[in-house]
Amino acid sequence: MLTLGIETSCDDTSVALLEGARHLRRFLVASQLEDHEAFGGVVPELASRKHLENFLPLLSRLLTECEIKNPSREIHLIAVTDGPGLMGSLLIGTTAAKALAQVWEVPLITVNHLEGHIFANYLAHDDLFPPFITLIVSGGHTELILVRSFGDYVLLGATRDDAIGEAFDKIARLLGLGYPGGPAIEKAARGGDPAAVALPVPMADSPDIEFSFSGLKTAVIWASKRNPYLRLEDLCASFQHAATEALVCKVELAVRKTGIRKVAVSGGVAANLELRRKMKGVPWKTYFPPIELCTDNGAMIAAAGYNAYKRGERASLSFMPDPSKSLV
Ligand code: ATP
Ligand code: FE
Repeated sequence: MLTLGIETSCDDTSVALLEGARHLRRFLVASQLEDHEAFGGVVPELASRKHLENFLPLLSRLLTECEIKNPSREIHLIAVTDGPGLMGSLLIGTTAAKALAQVWEVPLITVNHLEGHIFANYLAHDDLFPPFITLIVSGGHTELILVRSFGDYVLLGATRDDAIGEAFDKIARLLGLGYPGGPAIEKAARGGDPAAVALPVPMADSPDIEFSFSGLKTAVIWASKRNPYLRLEDLCASFQHAATEALVCKVELAVRKTGIRKVAVSGGVAANLELRRKMKGVPWKTYFPPIELCTDNGAMIAAAGYNAYKRGERASLSFMPDPSKSLV
């Protein structure tokens, strides 16, 4: 059974073909990085225009490369992100999905973008089954969630303010490192001393599962203003250390509170090698998706959609995307 996955929630247009639950035939991403770079962040209006431009050529390339000659016969299900995300961006993917589902006469599944991120791990690890804890660390979210079973999620804790990816992006912008900030800071931190600047590990003393990255962002900016001779690699390494330490600390708390010793980390920040290194030396089993499936992609949407289809879910053609859709 072949599922077409469609993701257009933010600034990446992505389509994928998935066979069964896990066999990924191919996924393609049309990145809009160059379009938004000059603005230091995603411009919503520009993002939806670019999705419109990119979608059909990308789909047609996918079908050609996968040698699909008769999609209405060969594709059995369409899964599309319907939120959270930018309304204009979501509308392009969901409208395309509705049209294709109608023309090809195949069922349609709507996928929560965050559930998609969880399924990036499912795609890569066939020993990952619930219950497990998942840490979603992305541009818009920092959440620890208990996956009781697929489709049954309990929020353990989240950020009080900025998402961790947002903190990476904002700091990178203020330091003139460009967009997106995560990879830029990771690169700039290479060879730096993580103990050079004494930055507080946010919420480390709190007994609750919660995050906060806004104060850390301010502390980094102040440190750079106060000491103009501070080496960029030291500042970036110190920030990266404090931010990732906060994640490890709260994952440990979640493991202790739930007694569940399987943790799946996903979302764009899961690509960070310092975070991956830290999560290796821990007394629980940690899962990460392959780097290319950490940021937004249609493969994870296809996997989540196929799973929801098997659970009996269906979407009607009249659904509307929800920019602030929540998972729990
Ligand atoms: P959400 O999934 O919350 O809706 P999003 O889809 O915009 O937000 P993702 O595409 O999942 O977010 O992730 C993008 C974020 O990941 C950006 O903030 C980016 O800076 C960050 N990121 C990407 N690579 C790295 C890295 N190597 N280290 C740290 N952060 C990274
Ligand atoms: Fe995302």
